Amino acid sequence: MQTTIETLPAFELLGLAPELIDAIRDAGYREPTPIQAQAIPLALKGRDLIGLAQTGTGKTAAFTLPIVQRLLGGPRRLRALILTPTRELAAQVRESFEKYGRHSGLRVAEIFGGVALGPQETALRRGVDVVVATPGRLIDHLERQNLVFDDLEVLVLDEADRMLDMGFAPQINQIVREVPPYRQTLLFSATMPPEVEALARKYLRKPLVVQVGLRTQAVDTVAHAVYPVPRERKSALLAELLKRPEMDSVLVFTRTKHGADRLVRHLERAGIEASAMHADKTQSQRMQALEGFREGKIRVLVATDIAQRGLDIAGISHVINYDVPQRPEDYVHRIGRTGRAAATGDAFTFMSPDEIGMVRTIERVLGTPIPRISVPGYDFGTVAAD
Ligand code: AMP
Repeated sequence: MQTTIETLPAFELLGLAPELIDAIRDAGYREPTPIQAQAIPLALKGRDLIGLAQTGTGKTAAFTLPIVQRLLGGPRRLRALILTPTRELAAQVRESFEKYGRHSGLRVAEIFGGVALGPQETALRRGVDVVVATPGRLIDHLERQNLVFDDLEVLVLDEADRMLDMGFAPQINQIVREVPPYRQTLLFSATMPPEVEALARKYLRKPLVVQVGLRTQAVDTVAHAVYPVPRERKSALLAELLKRPEMDSVLVFTRTKHGADRLVRHLERAGIEASAMHADKTQSQRMQALEGFREGKIRVLVATDIAQRGLDIAGISHVINYDVPQRPEDYVHRIGRTGRAAATGDAFTFMSPDEIGMVRTIERVLGTPIPRISVPGYDFGTVAAD
């Protein structure tokens, strides 16, 4: 399978505005760090995110850049609040806003304890677009009505685990109560103890988790490709591909249990032996299917996400995403199945026209486009993939 993976200048792929690309170049960054590659496109879409990343991973830019982009050209009001555990971190975040927002004229206030209230008060009352603060001192200002959160759109809880360790939970709760519920919330944490999870559950809406290491898990040995194909031609394309002799152990993912069963029936009608594995199967049926697959008796296993994590089946030759995975991280986990097992593994994704957007999101997260393979008679012709 000759699939080449071209690498484009990745910052450009993340959806950042030209002003920001310029600022990034001026900062001397050549390519996004993994956390940036994952978090920026999703944050730009307005999603709530949990970023599992420590200092040194580039996490500050991962949230600062999308916020600056959101604030560019909008009304001049307090629209973003970043809570940090320490004054050092607050200073670092403020510098980051200044670096990337240089041409935007954003007004950024840095609020922390141990210094006089007066100058901070003056700055706040003059009007700011972004506040970077430690929780305790921010409450002093809230109580003095030096600022209101009525127009706040983005809330960042930076180093959440450290803030909780330092006993800031009551202050965080008090602050978040004042913030409009319709907002974007980004939570960054190096670790995910139950207290941080509880915080995330309380304040984030349908968060996506981005994690350092995800990118490297998208194993380099896997050659992956996308087949553009109308939905109704997918089963025929799969049967066609399965005729190839190199497809000797194929894990096929479908979105639904029903879809998995239907596909197995279709393959069997086409003379291809296949088994389904999903949550409606009994434990012993699942074991049997897995066993058969492992031993090479079953060539094709059709599974829902149940088979995705932790399942280490040696010798998988191919992973096929019959439906495009809903979340980019699922894509990485799924194709990880084949890369881990066999250095030559291929991962193919069937993309119908309504799934183009999801594939594009996956590509943004990966920071690289996935090559397209067009099969005459199966692809959707002139409908461009972009
Ligand atoms: P942070 O994890 O946010 O504390 O950032 C760690 C350091 O990495 C900071 O000094 C940033 O200036 C730097 N940095 C952030 N993003 C990049 C990048 N894409 N390329 C190179 N350096 C970066």
